[in-house]
Amino acid sequence: MTPAQALQKYYGYSEFRHKQEEIIRQVLNGGDAMVLMPTGGGKSLCYQLPAVLLDGLTIVISPLIALMKDQVDALNVTGIPAAYLNSTQSSGEQQAIISRLKNNEIKLLYLAPERLFKTGNRLTEFLQSLKVSLIAIDEAHCISHWGHDFRPEYLMLAGLKDAFPAIPVIALTATADQLTRKDILEKLALHNPAQFVSSFNRANITYTVTPKKNSLNQLLAFLDQHKDDSGIIYCLSRQSTEDLAAQLKKEGFLAEAYHAGLSNDIKARNQEAFLRDEVRIIVATIAFGMGINKSNVRWVVHMDLPKNIEGYYQETGRAGRDGLPSDALLFYSPGDAFKLQNFARIEGNEDQSRIMLRKLDDMVKFCQLTTCRRKYLLNYFNESFPDTCGSCDVCLSDYQKFDGTLIAQKALSAVARLKESFGSGYVIDILRGSNNSKLRPEHKQLKTYGIGADLSKADWQRYLRELITLGYLKVSDGAYPVLMLTNKSEAVLKGQQTVELTLSQTTEEEHHEALPHEAELLSRLKTIRTEIANQENVPAYIIL
Ligand code: ADP
Ligand code: MG
Ligand code: ZN
Repeated sequence: MTPAQALQKYYGYSEFRHKQEEIIRQVLNGGDAMVLMPTGGGKSLCYQLPAVLLDGLTIVISPLIALMKDQVDALNVTGIPAAYLNSTQSSGEQQAIISRLKNNEIKLLYLAPERLFKTGNRLTEFLQSLKVSLIAIDEAHCISHWGHDFRPEYLMLAGLKDAFPAIPVIALTATADQLTRKDILEKLALHNPAQFVSSFNRANITYTVTPKKNSLNQLLAFLDQHKDDSGIIYCLSRQSTEDLAAQLKKEGFLAEAYHAGLSNDIKARNQEAFLRDEVRIIVATIAFGMGINKSNVRWVVHMDLPKNIEGYYQETGRAGRDGLPSDALLFYSPGDAFKLQNFARIEGNEDQSRIMLRKLDDMVKFCQLTTCRRKYLLNYFNESFPDTCGSCDVCLSDYQKFDGTLIAQKALSAVARLKESFGSGYVIDILRGSNNSKLRPEHKQLKTYGIGADLSKADWQRYLRELITLGYLKVSDGAYPVLMLTNKSEAVLKGQQTVELTLSQTTEEEHHEALPHEAELLSRLKTIRTEIANQENVPAYIIL
């Protein structure tokens, strides 16, 4: 039987999706593989179908016992003999499965990672005595601290290649940035793995970020437009999921809470009710959703700021698995960012804190974008994308563009005069002529000191960020990132290149500090512009 025939026979599908076919071939040829495919992309098939075609047993490592049961039931319905072994089973049930394994009656065996390598348990030895053809590690990012769902049990899989040296391993995940990806490969010690990265674009999802003001009213307004649709609301704390679920019930919505602190019974009941459309809304912490295969989730709302882009993308990815238009709405407040920064500082060791802060910062940047959100998300996962998608809130908005060349020149010259050695906060203080006592006295003598006092701090933050996105500035790596010029900066400073920026709507709370005397400011600006105009062929950094 060919893979295509098996696809038709067991799943009733006529075509492979993404890179499924290539992946299946790699595995059938006995090679290791690493698969990155978005949630709902069809990862399971990449090991289930080889399991059917190969002689012998395929072992599947999966993190959640609840998921195993669903997957195994589904496989048995399609006529593929599958089973799981876990702690919820009686020893009689487990023995029955062991004897079916001995008789080669099972094609796929689902296990939790700790089952495979628990010290003093003979299961590993028993499995070594069987003909195992393939080992699949589902949700492989759970092995990495840098993923958004680290599970210590997964670390035991580091011994996998020692225990089963000759057996091909396929690792699968929906969320892995470069760092996590590298970590997975190293920890699992895969041999020459072929990497299959599918496009992560979820074209049917519209991304929207809204400033959080009165989030309950904002949410109710959103729900008004989604009366009969199913959706998931993510909150940061367990308590807030319960409070919000109660409030929504009071408003007449079919809503239930879900978080890790609830009893298993209640969790299972709420999840089932959601799957059967008896509950329309699940208000949950991030504990909810991994592997939930509900195709008609029409929207996902984040009441609070997610900790990182990976988590956010995974959670929003639960919307629209059926390919129909779906919404992802996030309520953003700088206060949330501040709160999470403090969490990140005290959580884990120094390295972990630093990485968490960096990832949080990328999440905050996403919220503050004035450029296409989809492009940013895909770029985050190292995928290129055109400048506009036409279907995120930024692309759909009527953000006004204006000639921001002068603003860009001010910013770039400040960066140049500060010798590319300071972060954006310092650069903004210089631009705005701040009295901050931390500014070095000599920097208050710079011609750029105060030339940007006409703009608020928040506006400058936005424009600097946009200049970075557009490639006119860059941020250094390292613990204390500084702003630096790029090879596109010089042309702007010399007036050979105009810069289009997005007009920002300054809000009331972002009040302006006192301006230096206006006439003085104008005359200084004039000198700077003449200086720029009069100099040719001079490196950008000495122009000002
Ligand atoms: P993932 O694990 O990547 O999130 P799943 O393996 O659970 O995704 O698959 C998601 C859905 O897509 C399932 O309902 C599955 O049957 C379906 N699917 C997978 N491959 C195909 C295909 N080639 N054609 C049509 N549907 C598919
Ligand atoms: Mg899956
Ligand atoms: Zn867009």
